[in-house]
Amino acid sequence: MMTRKVKTRFAPSPTGIMHIGNLRSALYEYLIARSRGGAFILRIEDTDRERYVEGAIEVIFRTLSQCGLHHDEGPDIGGPNGPYTQSERLPLYKKYAEQLIAQGDAYPCFCTSGTVSGNEDVDETESFGYNRRCRGIDPGTARERIRSGEAYAIRQKMPLDGKTSFTDDVYGVITVMNKELEDQILLKSDGYPTYNFANVVDDHLMEITHIVRGSEYLSSTPKYCLLYESLGWEIPHFVHLPLIVGEDGKKLSKRHGSTSFDDLIKDGYLPKAIVNMIAFLGWAPGDETEEIFSLGELEQIFRIEGINKAPAVFSYPKLNWMNEQYIRAMPFDTWKKRVQEIADPCFGDRPYDPGKLAEVLQPRVTKLSDIPAMIRFLTGRLPLSRELFYNKRAKLDADKAAYILEAIFPRLQALDEWSETGLDHLLEEAGQALDLKKGQLMGSLRAGLAAQQVTPGGAIETALILGQSESLERLDRVLDFLRKE
Ligand code: GLU
Repeated sequence: MMTRKVKTRFAPSPTGIMHIGNLRSALYEYLIARSRGGAFILRIEDTDRERYVEGAIEVIFRTLSQCGLHHDEGPDIGGPNGPYTQSERLPLYKKYAEQLIAQGDAYPCFCTSGTVSGNEDVDETESFGYNRRCRGIDPGTARERIRSGEAYAIRQKMPLDGKTSFTDDVYGVITVMNKELEDQILLKSDGYPTYNFANVVDDHLMEITHIVRGSEYLSSTPKYCLLYESLGWEIPHFVHLPLIVGEDGKKLSKRHGSTSFDDLIKDGYLPKAIVNMIAFLGWAPGDETEEIFSLGELEQIFRIEGINKAPAVFSYPKLNWMNEQYIRAMPFDTWKKRVQEIADPCFGDRPYDPGKLAEVLQPRVTKLSDIPAMIRFLTGRLPLSRELFYNKRAKLDADKAAYILEAIFPRLQALDEWSETGLDHLLEEAGQALDLKKGQLMGSLRAGLAAQQVTPGGAIETALILGQSESLERLDRVLDFLRKE
């Protein structure tokens, strides 16, 4: 039984994009560590130089920090088993690869690099895999070729018979026939390890107890288990995570919607809602029906047993719903600041009441990015039409509205206290004086101010957001229009 302190790692490749799947791995790794008093490590897997993207490491740091997934060891903060960036660990991989050669569990291969002539017939990308052509080279001859400066890679020597099994904490026992395993490259001729080798060396040296990653790595895991065995290392827990699909059951892709953290943020989702949503991509908290959990709560209740192997559906409508819950629950001052950041540039020089606007929007917004369109009727003046004032239920039309607005305009102009109570009294009194329903006054005023039939918030809220002077200017323009038509 493993009694070591639980340690998990997030091991992203710096590709510049944090996909939903990457973020889910990070979250589950973080939660497994936190729920068991363990440590969460960040390791940068940058050995695939072709995939390396400038600035990508910053994207990783920023995303983790926005999501609240703070690591205990990593390239920026160090730790006992650093360095935490693979390109800075090349001598370690070389050491263990050479040890494997010496033990007879790996061999130098002179075939793979295009720099070596005479090997054009070998194409390691073909599905049958490498044909093991260098496996039979006598070790003395191989050493000689290496000494003479010939480029070589190092390949794992797979057993040719028997089978390899391991137990995944989610998928159960997985068994493969060894003869189906390719003699995979461990170290490339440029001295860089492949993922296949580096992940084993690093996970061991960094004392990782639970390897959590996407199920696409499930089929390679027997090869890694053989490496652990060859090196005499304890095999850690494997926790492979289910595929993420869209609502049509197909692998989640851009066709379904945004698939990266940054794009979801651009779409107007809050990091907390994204984290909550992603927590449910393949995991559920037992019998509970509750779905809104803060990161702190997830840290308490997350269990590996709750991870499911069935494909996990990423539902955008559900994310919308979650985002709404987080917006509704946000402390008002924080919400107001968020609204102002978006609304200020939309209003430009026009004054408005940000507090009132935030109050009107908080129960109504689904995504932050919806706000500019939702407030267009406030930030600019929309075209007028007579139809705007037509409301069968309230028995209103353009003529009636003109009559009402004409009557209340001077009262609005004279109003000292442009407040909710001030406006409410004014409409109440004007309704009585004109012998009209207050609702008719409200309807006319709202259509007049907004030039839009459906608005978030009613007449009084609209008037308060716009302020007295803008409201009067708008009504003046409306009366002008209605008189002319
Ligand atoms: N660098 C790998 C990736 O980004 C990590 C896989 C793993 O977690 O082991 O896909």
